[in-house]
Amino acid sequence: MEIPRKKPLSRRGFCLCCVGGAAAAAAGAWPTPRQAFAEARGLVSLIKDSAAASPIVTHRLRDNITVLEGSGGTVAVLTGPDGKVLVDAGIGVSRPRLTRALAGLGADPITHLINTHWHFDHTDGNAWLNAAGAKIVAQENTRKYLSQVQRVEDWDYNFLPLSTGGVPTEVFASERSLRLNGSTVALKHYAPAHTDSDISVTFSEANVVHVADTFWNGVYPFIDYSTGGSIDGMIAASDANLAATTDDTIVIAGHGKAVGTRAELKEFRDMLVAVRERVAALKEQGRSRDETVAARPTAAFDAKFGNFVIDPGFFTRLVYQGV
Ligand SMILES: [Zn+2]
Repeated sequence: MEIPRKKPLSRRGFCLCCVGGAAAAAAGAWPTPRQAFAEARGLVSLIKDSAAASPIVTHRLRDNITVLEGSGGTVAVLTGPDGKVLVDAGIGVSRPRLTRALAGLGADPITHLINTHWHFDHTDGNAWLNAAGAKIVAQENTRKYLSQVQRVEDWDYNFLPLSTGGVPTEVFASERSLRLNGSTVALKHYAPAHTDSDISVTFSEANVVHVADTFWNGVYPFIDYSTGGSIDGMIAASDANLAATTDDTIVIAGHGKAVGTRAELKEFRDMLVAVRERVAALKEQGRSRDETVAARPTAAFDAKFGNFVIDPGFFTRLVYQGV
């Protein structure tokens, strides 16, 4: 989930874990994520409102690949005679701005949309993109979650099924290779990591890979245990990403700094491993989740990674849940 970085909202205004924190502190207890999120009702609307006001920033990578930043998860676009191929749809309210940004990449029609996973900040724009001409491709779990009421426990939120046009029609289990615009577009399902629907999208010839929400570049990640995510899965996906890239690879992150490098992937992976170790050690000593949060096992990383939606306390709770 993401709040676009150039946002009109101050982080303090909606910080997921600080909402209701004063009341909980007065009662001598940390809020559970559930309580914190219950008090953060309207968060999804807030993210949508923020996207509605956010500019779309265009990063031209190489060959015919471009990144569009500012509407939920990072969107990538492959242009050419086969039409525009989008990786992720952003938030629906960004439609006018995304339409303008896409028009700026040439006159080719929109023909394909690939969803990297089911989360709304990557799929909320599915319906309008389908109406604009995109055939939607995804891993089969993405179709499943987008076709039913899907709860995310840590957001205390039930996401409704997408309208028929927004649901992916072409699904696969583990791998799919497309040949579009002179490029090999390789789709690969991760073992459960951020969710159990995550895929990577590799533009082979250009050596560019969109690793979606298995990589939050320079910020603590959300991990969705409600649909199969786990800290160990995130670490395994990071290892897979490192194995699949070189120093020359352009690595597109789902959130945080959109256009990244293998070195940044490594830094993210090392942070995950270090925090996991510390949290596991505290849990093994018998510390409760609140005591573990109070011990600040992320302290060494907070200055760099702790300045986004998932704050140190919330990230610690997510790790604690999985060790
Ligand atoms: Zn996500």
